[in-house]
Amino acid sequence: MSALTAEGLNTYYGKSHILHDVSLDVAEGRITTILGRNGAGKTTTLRSLVGLTPPRSGRVSLFGTDITGWPPYRIAAAGVGYVPEGRRVFANLTVDENLRVPLERPGPYTIEHIYELFPRLRERATNLGRQLSGGEQEMLSIARAMLLNPRLLILDEPSQGLAPLIVKEVFRIVARMREEGISVLLVEQNVRMSLEISDDAHVLENGQMVYSGTAEALRGDEARIQALAGAS
Ligand code: ATP
Repeated sequence: MSALTAEGLNTYYGKSHILHDVSLDVAEGRITTILGRNGAGKTTTLRSLVGLTPPRSGRVSLFGTDITGWPPYRIAAAGVGYVPEGRRVFANLTVDENLRVPLERPGPYTIEHIYELFPRLRERATNLGRQLSGGEQEMLSIARAMLLNPRLLILDEPSQGLAPLIVKEVFRIVARMREEGISVLLVEQNVRMSLEISDDAHVLENGQMVYSGTAEALRGDEARIQALAGAS
């Protein structure tokens, strides 16, 4: 079954036509990555899916329910966790307060469980958001999305600006969520690492989907990897 499918999305910023008939599929219980050079339309695709930049045409369905045109809060309440690019943590709230802000859907991820998974956040529980390192902010961002107990987690460039060890840590957590049955849609500049962790992949070029298939097939396509990675 599909966690999410999008068909024929056309998204604009004003008069600029950014996404051209974009279709994609996120299979349940798998990690799907969207790759593409800077400006290819990856973030716009995610914003289209979560209702932040509604497409002008096309359809989106979530676990078989048509969610086309739904506002972001309703899509979140239906179980879609979204971690935007650039980690929007509340700078003047403590880590613990940041964790108590989001909508909590019932499920295995409670604040106590989150502190077990992210011991670093427990150590930093009384620190303000703005006192955290980039890696800690990313973890806090992901932790907040996990408290929604999402059925589908959408991450926009989680590795951006992080030290390699922290990137590994973040990817380890994402892989663990898949093991718990959560479907994941990941946008990444880090082409090799995201292909390593992903089951399926899509490649965007100038707002058009030019590849949809397994991550494995792309892992062997060194020329394409170079072309995608070269631009980052
Ligand atoms: P990056 O990795 O650089 O974030 P991306 O693949 O996520 O790239 P998008 O951010 O989706 O790409 O941008 C796609 C295109 O839309 C780019 O040409 C960008 O300049 C344009 N764009 C993005 N946001 C806006 C906006 N708010 N208004 C107008 N144009 C925008």
